[in-house]
Amino acid sequence: MKTLPWLLLLAVVGLTGCVTPFRAPSDVAHIQLTRGDSPFVRVEKIWLERKKGPLVVKGYVVKRLEADDTTQTHLDVTLYDSAGAVLRRTVGHFEPRQIPRRYRRPDYASYSVPLDPLPGGTVRIEVRAHEGDHS
Ligand SMILES: [Zn+2]
Repeated sequence: MKTLPWLLLLAVVGLTGCVTPFRAPSDVAHIQLTRGDSPFVRVEKIWLERKKGPLVVKGYVVKRLEADDTTQTHLDVTLYDSAGAVLRRTVGHFEPRQIPRRYRRPDYASYSVPLDPLPGGTVRIEVRAHEGDHS
């Protein structure tokens, strides 16, 4: 039964099986997008978009079946250069923060994190789900 929510998600959001379902704007098409899961939340989809001006990284997260409260989970968006150094780290959130239980669908939420101004030399953007805080 593990693959069923996945298939349903594809039907719900109308995407292909690819983690990056949409083509990035050409000036950022070289940027590699990577994702990381937490014990509670999986980062399911990630793409870059610049529809209303600012560049944003968007996507969907899915709550794991065994997870309950997702309000303590956030997204760490990290920008790396070609040497693997961190250029910037932003904390973002998916909406709704408490991922609802959906009838006959996977429990999902969406996120949209602004990236402007994107540091020059950014070659990789990672979106990682994370529980806990940053001190
Ligand atoms: Zn974090």
